[in-house]
Amino acid sequence: MKILVQKFGGTSVADLDAMRHVLSKVQKGLVNHDKVIVVLSARAGDTNKLLALAQQWSDTPDKAECDCLVSTGEQVSIALFSMLLKDNGISARSLLSWQIPIQTNDDFGNARILDIDRDKLKSLLESYDVLVVAGFQGMTEDGRITTLGRGGSDTSAVALAAALDSCECEIYTDVDGVYTTDPNICSAARKMDCVSYEEMLELASMGAKVLHIRSVEFAKKYKVPVRVRSTFSDDPGTLVTKEDASMEAVLVSGIAYDKDQARVTLRDLPDIPGTAAAVFGPLSEKGVLVDMIIQNTSQDGHTDITFTVSRRDLTKTLEIMQGISEKIGASEILHDVNVAKVSAIGVGMRNHSGVAARAFTALTQEGINILMISTSEIKITILIQEKYVELAVRILHDTFGLDWDIA
Ligand code: ASP
Ligand code: MG
Repeated sequence: MKILVQKFGGTSVADLDAMRHVLSKVQKGLVNHDKVIVVLSARAGDTNKLLALAQQWSDTPDKAECDCLVSTGEQVSIALFSMLLKDNGISARSLLSWQIPIQTNDDFGNARILDIDRDKLKSLLESYDVLVVAGFQGMTEDGRITTLGRGGSDTSAVALAAALDSCECEIYTDVDGVYTTDPNICSAARKMDCVSYEEMLELASMGAKVLHIRSVEFAKKYKVPVRVRSTFSDDPGTLVTKEDASMEAVLVSGIAYDKDQARVTLRDLPDIPGTAAAVFGPLSEKGVLVDMIIQNTSQDGHTDITFTVSRRDLTKTLEIMQGISEKIGASEILHDVNVAKVSAIGVGMRNHSGVAARAFTALTQEGINILMISTSEIKITILIQEKYVELAVRILHDTFGLDWDIA
């Protein structure tokens, strides 16, 4: 049985008109496949409205009840769309997560999928041509409704495709694929034909918000090819898949940026074993995610440590640092929120040297000062002043030959 999973986001199901586009995608899916599983998000804005409602009722809404509430957005979409399918002569039914079930842990609001009853799914596919499944939601072992975190219906779709081995997964949205960088700040950005899971994870974590990051991790783990495409065009979109030789030939495949950065510097720490642990231990205990870290060389037995955190964690970070400053012996705690990071990403970097030098040279020529640098196998990240971020993205995009070729 050839099965296709198609996921549609909030704008694709926002109203009857949009849903008619979805209908035509499903009809096309049925031409080349025996069965289609449609995964839907809530209609655009519905999840936000439901979350706001919970806040009206309670300052600290019970997490399990909040999931019970916000998961209803998807229930509306699947019922309405199933009506449309039936009116068009397609054998279909709606399915909530507990009706399959899609089992998750009990981390309400951010649950992880543990298991999907594939036998039940297959038997349902015997009876219907199209199953319309509510995305974003799951069920705990003891029968409580969970949600998978904002944007989580991408993960529902990939998990369903993974459960039905060798099943393709299409994620429909309102853009026609994954771009080499943000087209809003770089008009030369191009849509990519394909991108590796590793690159997509880096792009997504840097704020290229096309796919829920956990869905990419899932796709990578279970080797599910995912095609990101638009509901409102026939463009083939971007295929997110495993790395191949053609991808390795390209040095840099995308430029990402993130303005949600704050820099903290601790001055004159004693350069003795245990200092870094004393700084970063309390941060991790309080759930602060530290991103880039630099420790300088020692002078007179003392050193500076600089690191970055998300801006929303800055106040908490500074409080923690004040609390331990005597213990760790810092002479001063400095911070700066006017910073941002820019990254060049590409699996091709594994086999080529000189990428970092090229990036630094290009930025220097434009007079952009580099505050921090970090590198990994497939990524170079630099921290710069926020006011230069758009310029830096455009320069790197051009330097690595990603600009749209007008000729
Ligand atoms: N409706 C949920 C949200 O708005 C899930 C999703 O759209 O993927 O986050
Ligand atoms: Mg989404």
